[in-house]
Amino acid sequence: MKKTRLASFFVTVGLLGISQFVRAAEPAHPANSYENAGLTFLGMTADQAAKRRAELTKSQHPFAIIVSCSDSRVPPEIVFDQGLGDLFVLRVAGNVIDDHSLGSIEYAVDHLAVRLIVVLGHQRCGAVKAAKETIAAKGKAPAHIQSLVTAIKPAVEATVHGDLEATVEANVKNVTQALRSSPPILKPKVDSGEVRVIGAYYNLDTGAVSFLDEK
Ligand SMILES: [Zn+2]
Repeated sequence: MKKTRLASFFVTVGLLGISQFVRAAEPAHPANSYENAGLTFLGMTADQAAKRRAELTKSQHPFAIIVSCSDSRVPPEIVFDQGLGDLFVLRVAGNVIDDHSLGSIEYAVDHLAVRLIVVLGHQRCGAVKAAKETIAAKGKAPAHIQSLVTAIKPAVEATVHGDLEATVEANVKNVTQALRSSPPILKPKVDSGEVRVIGAYYNLDTGAVSFLDEK
């Protein structure tokens, strides 16, 4: 990922004084080989990686919570070029939230003191596309997939005349707003400025992350 692509991200993060994300300015490294997975990352040697793992054995201090899609093309650690212990990640198709994920987020905010939450949607999201098509056909998705359709439905209805990317963006904004207004833990902290929730969009074609309007 090029530095310019994350410029707006640095501005946002800089406002929070979270210096760790500066590391995201460095170009992404080529994917490690399978046998080296977990041993080398962020250009670290195996020794350096072992040192970092040792640092993390007793505690974790991730500096951001990422709510992203399960899509294999959008792993947050790689998108943002971060390593072990940096990001507290929740992934589900369509980057929607339920009580389990909300509880996980509340835990990270309350117990790990994370102050930044990023809801990361992405270009050509298959879950959003499926929701859009299912609702347009007045159909029902099979099995538990319907629960995703139901969760994404408000974004679909708000962008009936828009394209897929408009629905993806609307869905990110809905989830972002749901987190901001979630009592009793998140809302007061968002209102006081202690916690910030921002929406983001990953472009598969370019690898760029753009950030959506703040409230
Ligand atoms: Zn997706």
